[in-house]
Amino acid sequence: MGRLLVVGSMAFDTVRTPFGEATDVLGGSATYFSTAASFFTGVDLIAVVGEDFPEQHIEFLQSRGIDLTGLERRSGATFRWRGEYTYQLNEAHTLETQLNVLETFRPKIPDQYRSPDMLFLGNIDPDLQSDVLNQVARPRLVACDTMNFWIDGKRDALWNVLQHIDILIINDGEARELGQDSNLVKVAKDIMARGPKQLIIKRGEYGVLMFTKKQVFGAPAFPLEYVKDPTGAGDTFAGGFMGYLAASGDCSEENLRKAIIFGSVMASFTVEAFSLDRLRDLDKKEIDHRFREFKRLTHFDDLT
Ligand code: AMP
Repeated sequence: MGRLLVVGSMAFDTVRTPFGEATDVLGGSATYFSTAASFFTGVDLIAVVGEDFPEQHIEFLQSRGIDLTGLERRSGATFRWRGEYTYQLNEAHTLETQLNVLETFRPKIPDQYRSPDMLFLGNIDPDLQSDVLNQVARPRLVACDTMNFWIDGKRDALWNVLQHIDILIINDGEARELGQDSNLVKVAKDIMARGPKQLIIKRGEYGVLMFTKKQVFGAPAFPLEYVKDPTGAGDTFAGGFMGYLAASGDCSEENLRKAIIFGSVMASFTVEAFSLDRLRDLDKKEIDHRFREFKRLTHFDDLT
């Protein structure tokens, strides 16, 4: 089983959705990713928190078997994100981003993390993503996420990272912004011409599209009766996707498709509650059960 390394944010999130509100709850790209991936494989985490970060959150991540040697605690405040969603749950509206300790963070990869099998460059400053990439032996697979905050603010640095990765995982709005066109097929072609071999576009309740040089694969989102908070769905998807790939050690196109379903299954749990709450009491049986339901959801006979 290959080790999976993640760099990303750890955060206090304040979120409002039509179904409720949560203040200063556990969030961040690395947090969602590593928790989701931990259901499949061992995860090593690189991130920074401030002195205000409670021990109980650290204990939760440790209880998931996540290696926190690479978690830095610095003087200052933890990264904070505040956002809201309307009934159009697909799109987060950022109200406030306080980088705090993330602003001066320079990731230093512990020696034992320097040869990861797979690497996920979570949503974080693209210069920091490059920093991490430069400190490790080239992993078998590198995937990367980003968001409009960095597409707007650090476009060149982002294109620089994208030249060195295998899979870019972003949502549809971000893909359009990055590719500067509204047509996703065209955007996918343009982005892949500039680096990534595969592009996974997350489309919220409409599911996921995976573009490779030759094919397109589509999966719906799992139809849920109750969705409380979409925050973290993307990072949870990426965690399930890469966690499954790292555990199986198989990066064939067929297996990438299966990994997409595991990613979608994990994301479907995250959105059922605020913060990481639904992942706290989740077990492997529920994951496998929903995977099978997913299979039934998308199965049909061909014409022969
Ligand atoms: P998503 O999976 O796309 O919903 O990502 C949600 C997480 O991204 C939240 O928990 C936020 O703390 C985190 N986040 C929001 N903005 C940023 C940013 N500019 N840099 C890093 N992380 C962020």
